[in-house]
Amino acid sequence: MLNPDIKAYLKDHREEHLSTLCEMLRFASISAVNDPDGCRPCAEWIAEHLRRLGLTAEVLPTDGQPCVFGELHVSDDAPTLLIYCHYDVQPPDPLDEWITPPFDPRVRDGWLYARGASDDKGQLMMHLAAIDAYRKTGGGVPINLKLLVEGEEEVGSPNIEPFLVKHKDRLQADALVISDVGFFADGCPSIMYALRGLCAFDVTYHGPNRDVHSGLEGGVITNPLNALARLTAAFHNDDGSVAIPGFYDDVIPVSEAERESWNSLPHDDEARAKSLGLEHLAGGERGYHTLERNWVRPTLECNGLSGGYAGPGAKTVIPAKATGKFSLRLVANQDPDKIQAAIDTFIHERTPKGIRAEITVHASNRPVRLPTDTPAMRAGKAAMAEAFGAEPKLICCGASIPITEILQRLLGLDAVMLGITLPEDNLHSPNERLKLTQLYQGAEMAASFYDNLRVLK
Ligand SMILES: [Zn+2]
Repeated sequence: MLNPDIKAYLKDHREEHLSTLCEMLRFASISAVNDPDGCRPCAEWIAEHLRRLGLTAEVLPTDGQPCVFGELHVSDDAPTLLIYCHYDVQPPDPLDEWITPPFDPRVRDGWLYARGASDDKGQLMMHLAAIDAYRKTGGGVPINLKLLVEGEEEVGSPNIEPFLVKHKDRLQADALVISDVGFFADGCPSIMYALRGLCAFDVTYHGPNRDVHSGLEGGVITNPLNALARLTAAFHNDDGSVAIPGFYDDVIPVSEAERESWNSLPHDDEARAKSLGLEHLAGGERGYHTLERNWVRPTLECNGLSGGYAGPGAKTVIPAKATGKFSLRLVANQDPDKIQAAIDTFIHERTPKGIRAEITVHASNRPVRLPTDTPAMRAGKAAMAEAFGAEPKLICCGASIPITEILQRLLGLDAVMLGITLPEDNLHSPNERLKLTQLYQGAEMAASFYDNLRVLK
């Protein structure tokens, strides 16, 4: 149970913590643009605030935007927790869709509106509030803390790997919490434990050395666009599964326990279809529920096809080349390199005579699946249950958060993802917002989590 003094302190200081968060939100720390008033000043403000909270803190350079690293050592006998958040935000565009300006935080009807309110400064604030509470009451923070606040999460963390390698020793800890995630639904506390990985590539089919007359050459040569359309169709079987040999070899089957637990989530296929302007959610593999197809089954999607003439009227041409853009979402334990090699073989085997295939690989990142019965996970579950009044559901995410995999792989820590965003927070969209009760209960969750972690040593 969380110390009642801590709970009371957090309650009495909500206004103060909210105004601290608003101060942080006034920095336009957009990592996609290099604004001199944006990222670095925000990083420096955070470091200064950490010092006010009694931590040592530094702004450490990377090849891009700097990271903030803070540390609080309370005892050699206490375990150490590494907290990960990010201070950078998405660009606020389109600006004219914001009801109030993105970097001028405002409260309306119990929600705080600002770019970064939820993703991710509000989640950093829940930790800062918890640390503040322990500092002022309840005998101090019960464990050693390290904070890593990144400045380039929103652009895919391009410089974090070398940074983590360089500072590996300083970042060592007994547990890791990633606070850049959220609930399945309002009123449904949730902890995410699996994220899909990604492979993205282009295929260009090269045919004749120029666009040629479809009458003079038609029937004589292979049309690259026709061939690419055949290839695109060949990627899937009729039952919606991916047709690449070996594709499912390493996939972990959905367990009965997972299936049962997800069936109890407040998920409405019809409403989801409606929100997308569709009659049915009919994609993916047959034999799996929507959430299973979305979370723990891998997929392959065509993201774009181009080539030839697409203007008005007719143009009777066989194009010189055609390009397809494809991406895959991978699940544990698929290996992106192995999958990409299987794709390359599949493409080359199906490329017809008269066509040369050129494959360009873009992004790739590995899927993540955290064990769900570790000490940190148990401490997180108990803290969330106490702060939000309901046992958290274990959920997954169909998308990727590359930093999770990178941290996990390079530091190998017992990790848990504890976050407070809600699906209606408008992440990355205009009018991003954070529900104030999520922030306040989130601070209690953080405080309770630190306390629960004392058992680690
Ligand atoms: Zn984020």
